[in-house]
Amino acid sequence: MKKISILGSTGSIGTQTLDVVAMHPDSFEVDGLAAGSNTALLLEQVRRFKPRRVSVASKELADDIRTQLPAGVELYSGDEGLVQIAAGGDADYVVTAVMGSVGLRSTLAAIEAGRDIGLANKETLVTAGHLVTEQVRRKGVKLLPIDSEHSAIFQCLNGESREDIASITLTASGGSFRDLTREQLRNVTVEDALRHPNWAMGAKITIDSATMVNKGLEVIEAHWLFDLPYEQIEVLLHPESIIHSFVEFRDSSIIAQLGNPDMRVPIQYALTYPERWHSPAQRLSLAQAGRLTFREMDFARYPALKLAIECGKTGGTATTAFNAANEVAVARFLRREISFLRIEEILEEVLGRHPVQSHPSLEQIEECDRTVRALAKSL
Ligand code: NDP
Ligand code: MG
Repeated sequence: MKKISILGSTGSIGTQTLDVVAMHPDSFEVDGLAAGSNTALLLEQVRRFKPRRVSVASKELADDIRTQLPAGVELYSGDEGLVQIAAGGDADYVVTAVMGSVGLRSTLAAIEAGRDIGLANKETLVTAGHLVTEQVRRKGVKLLPIDSEHSAIFQCLNGESREDIASITLTASGGSFRDLTREQLRNVTVEDALRHPNWAMGAKITIDSATMVNKGLEVIEAHWLFDLPYEQIEVLLHPESIIHSFVEFRDSSIIAQLGNPDMRVPIQYALTYPERWHSPAQRLSLAQAGRLTFREMDFARYPALKLAIECGKTGGTATTAFNAANEVAVARFLRREISFLRIEEILEEVLGRHPVQSHPSLEQIEECDRTVRALAKSL
């Protein structure tokens, strides 16, 4: 029986993680659930999965639901609440599925408490990859990728030695605007951007897919997860999202991981590794798929991807600043304050002005995050 806690249980990854838990009731027990503000869904999850502890985004929300919780369930709130769910109680495994760098302190707390991590929250590694990976090594915990591309690479590398890797390639669907030119991007709406062709995901990551920022964040995530230099990490457009990513070895062999796009597969693998269990995901028929297509990544069409990789190579607080600016710009686009193309401009402007600090401490990272957010809001 594995005891798990989920940070972001009411989101797209959080609910799919609970789907996986529900399919294997004899193997998993839920210790803690942390939500943001969707208290109705959280209460439903509490009735169904019977966690011992829950948390919501604010004290006001906690006061709203206090009387509706079964006796004995501990209730927390805010950033401190996230840390409580991550590191309090007696879970052996924490799934980090909140959106954004708000997940950093709680992820570090979970690692410090000696828990294995199923990592969906890529912003954590982008913001402070050196701190997270150093702490993972020091505590000897497992950091298992949930992001489909990274799960694919992780599966392809099973038992292979690092010296034999020539390169890894992350595939990209191209997002909701993959068939539009930059000129045609001028007048696109929030609704257009939220219509992803292959995956149903949270709003922020769906916008990140349309700007290709998501692939940029994933390149940085891969750099930290697999300890590879940026020169060995490539990206390739693959509109069908069937090959989730692949590794090329020095003997020219390529190993890829394939499947229909369904996040429950990488989520479950992160939970059951090194075992593989039965999954309800629809089986892939290559005969039915018929044709898989690929295109070279177009960095002129997706300038934010180029910028993200440059920030990765610069290191230090460059990636912290990139992530913080992007979180603010995407939130402003979703509130209809700025146009789609303004997201990229804000990234360029913020990075143009940001004085990069190398080897930042946690406090310096949080300070950078705050300063950049204020700047990105003011532009
Ligand atoms: P969602 O927006 O669907 O879910 C985000 C979750 O975080 C919700 O449960 C939300 O709560 C919670 N949350 C937000 N703010 C806070 C806060 N301040 N305190 C506590 N909880 C908070 O996002 P996704 O599930 O799509 O993505 C989550 C992470 O996983 C992201 O980092 C994303 O990049 C990554 N990811 C997602 C994939 C996907 O298929 N969705 C694929 C690969 C990676 P509430 O809704 O109650 O407000
Ligand atoms: Mg991904």
